Amino acid sequence: MDRGLIPEEIINRIRDRADIVEVVSAHLSLGKAGQNFKGLCPFHSEKTPSFIVSPSRQMFHCFGCGEGGNVFTFLMKIEGSSFPTVVRNLGEKYGIRVEEQPASPAARQRAEQVERLVELNKAAAEFFHKTLLKDPAAKPARVYLKERGITAETIERFGIGYAPQAWDGALKALTKGGKQAWSIEDLAAAGLIVAREQGGKKPGDASGYYDRFRGRVILAILDLQKRVIGFGGRVIDDGVPKYLNSPETPLFRKGRTLYGLEVAREGITREDQVVIVEGYFDAIALHQAGVTNVVATLGTALTSEHVDLIRRFTRRVVLLFDPDAAGVRAALRTLDLFLGSGLAVQVGSLPEGEDPDTFVRSRGPEAFTALVRQAPSLLDFTVAGSLAIGRQGSVEDRVRCVEEVLALLQKLSNPVEKSAALHHVADQLGLDEKVLMERYRQLTRNSSVADHVPGEASVGPVESAPLPKDEEVLVRLLLHDKLTAPMLAQLAADDFTDPRARRLIAKVLEGRTERGEPAVNEAIINIQDDPQCGGIVRALSLSELSYDDVGTAFRDSLKALKLRRIGEEIQEVKTAQMVAERAGQAETARTLMLRQNALQQERQRLLSAGPLPLTEVGSVNA
Ligand SMILES: [Zn+2]
Repeated sequence: MDRGLIPEEIINRIRDRADIVEVVSAHLSLGKAGQNFKGLCPFHSEKTPSFIVSPSRQMFHCFGCGEGGNVFTFLMKIEGSSFPTVVRNLGEKYGIRVEEQPASPAARQRAEQVERLVELNKAAAEFFHKTLLKDPAAKPARVYLKERGITAETIERFGIGYAPQAWDGALKALTKGGKQAWSIEDLAAAGLIVAREQGGKKPGDASGYYDRFRGRVILAILDLQKRVIGFGGRVIDDGVPKYLNSPETPLFRKGRTLYGLEVAREGITREDQVVIVEGYFDAIALHQAGVTNVVATLGTALTSEHVDLIRRFTRRVVLLFDPDAAGVRAALRTLDLFLGSGLAVQVGSLPEGEDPDTFVRSRGPEAFTALVRQAPSLLDFTVAGSLAIGRQGSVEDRVRCVEEVLALLQKLSNPVEKSAALHHVADQLGLDEKVLMERYRQLTRNSSVADHVPGEASVGPVESAPLPKDEEVLVRLLLHDKLTAPMLAQLAADDFTDPRARRLIAKVLEGRTERGEPAVNEAIINIQDDPQCGGIVRALSLSELSYDDVGTAFRDSLKALKLRRIGEEIQEVKTAQMVAERAGQAETARTLMLRQNALQQERQRLLSAGPLPLTEVGSVNA
């Protein structure tokens, strides 16, 4: 999260001072429900309230859609504002001054320049727009837009313009005429003009520069405050490059900008979903057809800053990729980006030869919406794509495909899904499932360290899937502050099979006090926004706790947890032993057999131990 330049201490003071019930009440009506407050969720549509606000935990959570967080998260989500803005506004409300870092002369100069560039870009956008509408020389552009089916209304709504062919159209218009004359330096800083290789570059000398955009349809790129921050230009003939963007400027960063977001934000919030396309005109055409939750990337790959930006509005993303090999590779690249982001990502693909623009024009918005609805998850899409390539290819291709797909499957946290997927892959490639399984286990073991890296997460709806029962009981007890130091000492993150529980337990163990007691409140504050386990933390800490006997609930669940883990390890060892025997590796097979026996004994001991303290059990992992 971009915390801006606001000191952590100020952020904490504001969070402590703000009352989440009061803040939320300003946006929806809340009724008392036990210790908590309850209302209709503003983030999804519902008839019975499942939106809970907890004054003691200072958090909110929706049991319907999983949305939740603290007072800052709530305001960011409902107002679509950035973190610094929310902190600043709340600070104002509670009389806590958010000190800007004292500005150096250089910083002040930069701020002033940014202000000038905003005004300049606005003037430039107006110039381009007027040129498109009025200039006789812009006729080919008007014809082009008409042929693309872009209406006059859309031209207005998106502020579409035209840059004249001349080398100095914008240059002249903006430095000489009009209400205000801009300096050459500002035009260059805004990326509107380019310096010539040679010639006079004396300050203020226009002869050394020429227009960046010539003979192109111009698309103004706006930020969320509706300021023009840059431009995209498209040729109207066969010229190259087809698209030309403003360079990076103090205002314009392609890696954190999505075209059309300022227009789409309402649609995105309403649909609770964003569709990301690759071309400006694809986005425009979809908006014009009534599909308004669409944005476009600016000819660059998606970045983690894009992901942060998206998360402010929705957790559901649909990417449109070509279904060919290039599209599959593009999808693969985004996979790592979206893992651990807490976003559910689907990939829609259009029929061969169609782009969103042609598709929506020939088949209508309903067909497009249907296509989006049926879009497979990012993981399914990449697995299916890799398999398609693997089936056609050589032996090496198939081997590479197997490795690639297995690596993808490791990212699935649900064991049932995982085994079904392995079965499917083996089937598709005509491979022996046992061989595939063994290779999979090897990969899993090799990457088991990576498994604990923060941010590792399941893709898609698994995020909200329930925990295994025993793990849920233990996590619930922990979050309700029922575990004593000796109880906590018996928990090991590795015993938990669900990656969300593992991450939470690891965090809590890390944050223990010197006397080994859990610092539950701190842990909850630190982790309630976590993209991976924030959902279960909020849900389980806000749900009722109904155990007559905490000690028994703890011991029974811990025992079940350990037994389950031993059971899984036994299965793994068995498989490895079988493979070793077939390969004639007698020595390895014997070692594995001994290991299996030890595990079986451990299991027997656990089963017969009854409700005895389980402190010794940890030795099974040694
Ligand atoms: Zn909800």
